[in-house]
Amino acid sequence: TITTQHLVAMFVAIADAIEEHKDHLSELDGVIGDADHGVTMGIGFTAVREALGQLDTAENEPAIVFNTAAKTFLNAVGASSGPLYATAFMRAGAAAKGKPELDRDAMVEAFCAMAKGIQDRGKAERGDKTMVDAWLPAAEAIGEAAERGDDLAACFRAAARAAEEGAEATKAMRASKGRAARLGDRSLGHIDPGAASTALIVGVMATQLT
Ligand code: ADP
Ligand code: MG
Ligand code: MG
Repeated sequence: TITTQHLVAMFVAIADAIEEHKDHLSELDGVIGDADHGVTMGIGFTAVREALGQLDTAENEPAIVFNTAAKTFLNAVGASSGPLYATAFMRAGAAAKGKPELDRDAMVEAFCAMAKGIQDRGKAERGDKTMVDAWLPAAEAIGEAAERGDDLAACFRAAARAAEEGAEATKAMRASKGRAARLGDRSLGHIDPGAASTALIVGVMATQLT
């Protein structure tokens, strides 16, 4: 089962990975957006890492980690990804509320709540070439894996694979939400930066949540 401490370690690992791939994410955004996606995500997760460093993991339930991440991300990030991830973490916090630890089903529920939160907040559909094209397939895959009876690690491996494939598939899509929508056909052939960072984040979750 997943404890408060596990979730803090997960956010720290995500912050590290985003920092490491910051330039690449901004380069992807430079092609179809305004070249700041690595920077905005880096600012957000660095702030989250700092805020979580102040948290007493022995005294707090897992939901507090998501709620702290939500508040911090929203305050730190001005870009479109700010409210999207803030909503995702807030929904995960609501799903986890009152649970001292998260078992497989509770963790899967929190993950699916994140994907749904991003879709509710940004109103993007599948195929609009956004992070939704990585988050929704990941949520579907993790739900199916849990249904099959896979353990937590296998569930997250399935989610990570689906997020990776979903991000790759945005190459063939024409953007119709966010900044890239202005490019129309010129957005074709390029991976959406938000979908790429999603694949990175879910990949880190899969290595951390076992
Ligand atoms: P900004 O576009 O404000 O500079 P970022 O560069 O941080 O923000 O994030 C851009 C990413 O946000 C896009 O690649 C896309 O995946 C995602 N995005 C933008 N608008 C939406 C939306 N309405 N729904 C879901 N994702 C979106
Ligand atoms: Mg941008
Ligand atoms: Mg921007």
